[in-house]
Amino acid sequence: MNRILIANRGEIALRVCLACRNLGIKSVAVYTEADAFSKHVAFADQSVRIGPSVATSSYLNQQALVHAAEKLNCDAIHPGYGFLSENPHFAELCENHKIQFIGPNSGTIREMGDKSNARKQALNTEVPVVPGSGDAFADADPAEIEARTIGYPVLIKASAGGGGRGMRVVSTQSDFRPMFAQASKEAESAFGSGLMYVEKFLPNVSHVEVQILGDNFGNVQALGERDCTVQRRHQKLVEEAPCSKIDDTIRQQLLEHSERLGKSIGYKGAGTVEYILDEHCEKFYFIEMNTRIQVEHPVTELLFRTDLIEAQLRLAMGEPLAKIVDSRPPVGHAMEFRINAENWTDDFRPSPGVIQRWNPPSGSGIRLDTHVYEGFRISPYYDSMIAKLIIYGHHREQTLERARIALNQFDVEGVDTTIGFHQNLLDQPDFITGNISTNWVENEFMGK
Ligand code: ADP
Ligand code: ADP
Ligand code: MG
Repeated sequence: MNRILIANRGEIALRVCLACRNLGIKSVAVYTEADAFSKHVAFADQSVRIGPSVATSSYLNQQALVHAAEKLNCDAIHPGYGFLSENPHFAELCENHKIQFIGPNSGTIREMGDKSNARKQALNTEVPVVPGSGDAFADADPAEIEARTIGYPVLIKASAGGGGRGMRVVSTQSDFRPMFAQASKEAESAFGSGLMYVEKFLPNVSHVEVQILGDNFGNVQALGERDCTVQRRHQKLVEEAPCSKIDDTIRQQLLEHSERLGKSIGYKGAGTVEYILDEHCEKFYFIEMNTRIQVEHPVTELLFRTDLIEAQLRLAMGEPLAKIVDSRPPVGHAMEFRINAENWTDDFRPSPGVIQRWNPPSGSGIRLDTHVYEGFRISPYYDSMIAKLIIYGHHREQTLERARIALNQFDVEGVDTTIGFHQNLLDQPDFITGNISTNWVENEFMGK
């Protein structure tokens, strides 16, 4: 690969530019009017305006992206996360145009992107899944029969879902039909498919996921797990590695199951296998697989001394895993704090505008991945995440302490941010001891 088009924006686009530079590969950024002054545009070797600010006409415009890649002689496209990263049609379009899509092939994306189908694949490989329906349904009738068999409360989920959208918890049977209709409609407009499946809603779960990498020779390796239990509306706010709630036996099982699942589908590139962990942290259940790089990949990078974006590029170029992954065991403890331009005291209302002051922290064990700077205008068009603060320490206590110091140093003016939320979070005894589940932020922390 000589030249890569990055079909994304924000911090991940910049992150991919830098990885390309490290490997001597040229990078091409795409941007919109709203993103013209983003760092990812300045750092790329070349940049091209891809369309108007609205994402459906730009970062989601498959034809325009492939056309730009061809015009600028790119031999590959990196899709980042979100946008087209898990879109099998886009991967196929790239394949048809002889442009390498950096990720698994379109068949794998199609197979695992359908969450109901991914459950079947997990079941086939003897990976435990949440009790749930065998199929996905367009109509409420058959889904309701399944729900009755599973037993309330249930969770209605979109087969094509992602980003925490298109899900509804249903506590009683009388609520099932209206909730199904609502969720299906939401899924139809968000993902273009109203197909829904049903899972048992498990109380007080934790979210644990496993990073995997696969090469062209059938090797699949797990690079540890991440705990992403700090969530709001099923969206992650803080992620850490390793997960402190599990013992080595469970950890080993999680890694083995994930590798086996990856091998069974001939997985290539970087992917994440997501699980929920029951309230006693003794049993885990597969929920979905994300066939792309994950927002929270840096916490794994620090523990495993492996640059995962470089790994994606090198795997795409056909290098074997053994040459890419450092074989020594993971060391230390890492945490990522998503800094969003939101007013967390007002229901996390988005806060676009100009950053008047930007004084980020620095020091031992502090990493900041961001595309913004002082004077940058945050547009209302896209996701409100403006930075990821990643903290590394020898053990969890040191990481927590370094995080407190870093967040106290982090001085931003002009827009509201979630820095204050994180500062507050780090003072919560439940968070410090790890005594939380995925509904803790909403029910306990913010609910107080
Ligand atoms: P991660 O597990 O990497 O944190 P998220 O679920 O937070 O993944 O998603 C990463 C980004 O991708 C977010 O901006 C989210 O809104 C977006 N996203 C995830 N899945 C989809 C999807 N199916 N369609 C559109 N956007 C998605
Ligand atoms: P998405 O594709 O939107 O990321 P997931 O299936 O990964 O959706 O679920 C998102 C979050 O919802 C999980 O991290 C967890 O907090 C919660 N969740 C998912 N399935 C269940 C379940 N069966 N019971 C309880 N909580 C669940
Ligand atoms: Mg998920």
